[in-house]
Amino acid sequence: MYQTLKKYFGFDGFRLYQEDAIHDLISGRDVLVLMPTGGGKSLCYQLPAILLEGVAIVISPLISLMKDQVDSLNSKGIKASYLNSTLDASESQQVISDFCEGKLDILYIAPERLVMPSTLKLLDSANISFFAVDEAHCISDWGNDFRPEYRRLGTLRSRYPNVPMIALTATATPAVREDIKKQLRMHCASTYVSSFNRPNLNYEIIKSTNPFSGIVNYLKKHTSDSGIIYCPTRKAVEETASLLKSRGFNATSYHAGLSDDIRSKRQDDFLNGKVRIVVATVAFGMGVDKPDVRFVIHYSPPSNLESYYQQTGRGGRDGLPCDCLLFLSEKDWHRLRYFIDSMESHRERDVAFSKLQQMMRYCEATKCRRRMLLEYFGESMEEDCGTCDVCRDPPTLYDATKEAQILINCVKEVKQQFGINHVVDIISGSRSQKVTRYSHHRLRSYGKGSGIPKAVWKNMAREMISHGMLEVKGSRYPVLKMNQKSRDILSGKCSVQLKSILPKSESSTSPPYTNDILKNDSAELFDRLKNLRTSIARDAKVKPYVVFADTSLRQMSATLPETHEQMMKLNGVGKIRVKKYGDIFLSEINNYRMETINSSTGM
Ligand code: ADP
Ligand code: ZN
Repeated sequence: MYQTLKKYFGFDGFRLYQEDAIHDLISGRDVLVLMPTGGGKSLCYQLPAILLEGVAIVISPLISLMKDQVDSLNSKGIKASYLNSTLDASESQQVISDFCEGKLDILYIAPERLVMPSTLKLLDSANISFFAVDEAHCISDWGNDFRPEYRRLGTLRSRYPNVPMIALTATATPAVREDIKKQLRMHCASTYVSSFNRPNLNYEIIKSTNPFSGIVNYLKKHTSDSGIIYCPTRKAVEETASLLKSRGFNATSYHAGLSDDIRSKRQDDFLNGKVRIVVATVAFGMGVDKPDVRFVIHYSPPSNLESYYQQTGRGGRDGLPCDCLLFLSEKDWHRLRYFIDSMESHRERDVAFSKLQQMMRYCEATKCRRRMLLEYFGESMEEDCGTCDVCRDPPTLYDATKEAQILINCVKEVKQQFGINHVVDIISGSRSQKVTRYSHHRLRSYGKGSGIPKAVWKNMAREMISHGMLEVKGSRYPVLKMNQKSRDILSGKCSVQLKSILPKSESSTSPPYTNDILKNDSAELFDRLKNLRTSIARDAKVKPYVVFADTSLRQMSATLPETHEQMMKLNGVGKIRVKKYGDIFLSEINNYRMETINSSTGM
């Protein structure tokens, strides 16, 4: 083994678990290997492929990378080829005849090609040393990258019962791990999991309604570093990239809507250092091996922790520090949930929703980010990392046992069938239609929490969810559910520490929360103003923007004007419109102001 390692690969030794995995595979056992990207997975099948008689079949979904991999193996003197849809008929024929003549050590095949009857027939006659399933998490619909064609690999075991298998992946939670073994029908596979910790990545979450300005601030302080900015949509990518360019930053955009040529040029420019910043969708990154990526910024959270970890994992490959910043605003969750709601399949939706909740937990957590990430991947940590934002600036926690009990009690009283907003409406003593329709103003919880503003209650509920003190079930109509921890809190068995609630002394002296709550809930006011606008526009038979543009309504909900003069200072709000519609909007804003302040002072 050592001789072959030196001769073909030029390495002097093995990395952690490579030797064990190779040893087991050579002895005919099934093997599962989990290593972070760059950990050295390929060697675990390439070396045995040389050592063993016959040809190793490597199944990989990354068709675009096959050619490079094969070229690189050939340059080392290893006999490898690939079969996929990029080859024409005569090229395929050549590979097939090499294969049949036993000239190959390794054959790469795309999964959809492998399960074709003609390919299987071809394999039947060959001497196969083993199957290697790369990116094995694609087989599990618990993974973040499920591919239906991977599922059909399960049949390999019955067709070739004596051929061992090695499955490899860089992202797999304990659940996905088990699923891979089950789907591939592996026999007592030996499992090797190397640490997923990347100590040089510094995780930080920034709550902000204006990620762009946060990004600009960061870039101004790091003028020579290069990095990636991930945005949720192509549109956001283009907008962000062009805004950055207009401010003089050396940035470019990258997404699946661009032609292959443009994409590969931009990727090269980034790798060569011609371009400093790539603003991209998730389409960017597979196979990008740039060692000195100094920052990976998320404009908004991705929909699951696997993707987040994979994307941040593209930073700091050279072992030097890399900042991983994630910008977060409340509306991101609505967008992500909306996206999940539109999924057709029930199961897909439930899985996606439960992954989204993990992401939310991560974002709301008050404990070490790295610890949370590693725990998610089934790894434990002895000490907090000391470099993430939570470790550097731990939040102050306050005793919120009483408040938590109020919330849980209400969840119990409504039989665990309602969501956060409704529960908070009840404990705040709201007279919303829904509250009266269900006679929830008769509940004992009704008005129990009227001394604390709604926005604070909502934050507390979210915090409790993130700490596992309450559960959320259902994607379309998420409802709050209790668990054992909720019951322990209710019975007084354990106390609750939260950051959302202010200590009693502070909340009773200063006019509590007023400014915060007004700012926090401006989305609610914005919605109300929009509804008002819709009805005015309908009556006047004009388009809504003729009344006021969205931007004007946004400014109104942020600044809460009290007079015509104040209103006219806002963008797009001229004299004529104020004269026509000013009063009716001012009165809605005033209603909102009174309601919110009343509910926050308990009046
Ligand atoms: P992965 O597939 O896990 O992302 P690769 O197999 O591409 O990782 O390996 C990452 C890098 O580590 C490659 O440059 C590879 O040559 C190198 N590498 C792998 N194994 C060893 C080893 N035993 N000694 C030195 N370098 C290694
Ligand atoms: Zn930490």
